[in-house]
Amino acid sequence: MKYPKKSLSKTGDKNPMWEGDNVGYFPLHNWVRRHKLKPKFCERCGKNKPYDLANISGKYKRDINDFEWICRKCHMENDGRINNLHRNEKRKHKGDLIQCTKCKEFKLKEQFYKNKHNWDGLDLNCKECGKKHSQEPEIRTKRREYEKEYFQRQEVKERRKKWARENYQKTEKKF
Ligand SMILES: [Zn+2]
Ligand SMILES: [Zn+2]
Repeated sequence: MKYPKKSLSKTGDKNPMWEGDNVGYFPLHNWVRRHKLKPKFCERCGKNKPYDLANISGKYKRDINDFEWICRKCHMENDGRINNLHRNEKRKHKGDLIQCTKCKEFKLKEQFYKNKHNWDGLDLNCKECGKKHSQEPEIRTKRREYEKEYFQRQEVKERRKKWARENYQKTEKKF
């Protein structure tokens, strides 16, 4: 799941970013958090301290019975299971060989970069495909154009100035 986990508690649901696509997810989680009291122990293993709310059906119903408080260990097992299921569909292993999701060829694991976010610890594309992708002239020009345009934007300029100012002050205070 991709969402800014760390900033969640800091910004709450007032963050304007979340008025967009994510609107269904975050307020629901907050709502459940308010209505479903944290039990003493994990609702799945009953041994450890609960750590986070997990959705049971995967449908994110507005129903507190569809959520459970689980410990870190159960949470990780839960996530791992979902990720493994998901990623196994995308990529195949054949003995020592692993399929690149881009060129569909089966290659040795040395031909993949490491990526700890994937269940097998390797990138989905082989090294060759990764290299090709970033060197395609079209992609390079596009990236350059995007960067040029991005840093030209008034709001970006101001944000960078503000950031520099704030960080400069911060370092100044330290010394
Ligand atoms: Zn547990
Ligand atoms: Zn490949």
